[in-house]
Amino acid sequence: METKFNLLDYDQDGLKEVIKSVIGDSLDLTPYRLRQIFQWVYRRRVKDFSSMTDISKKLREALAESFEITLPEIIFSQNSVDGSRKYLLKLKDGSEVESVLICQPTRFTLCVSSQVGCAIGCKFCRTAQMGLKRNLKVSEIIGQVMAVQEDVWSRGERGITFDDPEAQAPFQNIVFMGMGEPLHNKDSVISTVKILNDEHGLNFSGRKITVSTSGLIPAIKEFGESSARANLAISLNATTDEVRTEIMPINKRWPLEDLLETLRQFPLKAGRRITFEYVLLAGVNDTDEDMKRLPVLLRGIPAKINLIPYNSNSGLGYYPPEAERVQIWQKTLLSKGMNSTIRWSKGMDISAACGQLATESMRAKKKLEQALAA
Ligand code: SF4
Repeated sequence: METKFNLLDYDQDGLKEVIKSVIGDSLDLTPYRLRQIFQWVYRRRVKDFSSMTDISKKLREALAESFEITLPEIIFSQNSVDGSRKYLLKLKDGSEVESVLICQPTRFTLCVSSQVGCAIGCKFCRTAQMGLKRNLKVSEIIGQVMAVQEDVWSRGERGITFDDPEAQAPFQNIVFMGMGEPLHNKDSVISTVKILNDEHGLNFSGRKITVSTSGLIPAIKEFGESSARANLAISLNATTDEVRTEIMPINKRWPLEDLLETLRQFPLKAGRRITFEYVLLAGVNDTDEDMKRLPVLLRGIPAKINLIPYNSNSGLGYYPPEAERVQIWQKTLLSKGMNSTIRWSKGMDISAACGQLATESMRAKKKLEQALAA
């Protein structure tokens, strides 16, 4: 069977190129026409070219012949007592990824995956145990956002429906912190962010999107030079090369000094900061010396530090410090003038917390629920 191009794989520039290469120059493919196609797909959620009524019949037929619009399929979802929800999504080749809708007091955030598994091998992370299966395509990342939006609309939760998506978005923020290292799949992630930013696409402000990385220096530079608008977060987690290399082997290739120098040069917009995620692992990276070293290391970088007490349910032999110790960390950083917050993990009861995404746990839950229902 002949496979079609998924239209969701392309930002506007990419779409123009691919349509030209597949269909040829004969059709009326002005920037206005491209914007119309985007609006049908992303704003009106039309999946069938014949419904795009203000586009010429010839173009609609040509598009239908070579293109399709398909989202990953939500095959299971699980609610947390804290209001968060984890989704298991099936891709066209049968692979599965997870997305998490995180409920916070004043907003909802969607955490998306960028790879099936991950090659980076952080010792405290369950996704690392899967190894890297493959990169996700743009359609499989943007498709997570669209599939979850459509799921929330169809449930009518919080009074949110598709009828007024502008006024009632199911979530306001998107973080690339699910399965995978986003900048290991840089090209797809950059195109996805462009579609998110596009006012005719999903229309998310760059301030509301965060791309997290373990510190792939060349990709950080490319990301900074691209026209994709998003915040950058660095998964730091240590203040010495010795400890960082032990828990994040990627540090051997791109050590702390080089990483921090790259970040000092990163083209930040005025008033913006780089977020540093610091997963606190008791007895590993939470010493008094670490507390003193961190503000010194980050000198010269407009920084915000997110302290994340480790999620003890991981089964990987790491544990969080006592809550009191976490508070001491925050107070100390604040006293040094560092912008610092504590991120208590959400969705812990459904293994949706940071570093816990690994599809086999969710598949097992699904099977158990099916067996109980039978
Ligand atoms: S923490 Fe992120 S980069 Fe590290 S192994 Fe897990 S998914 Fe990959």
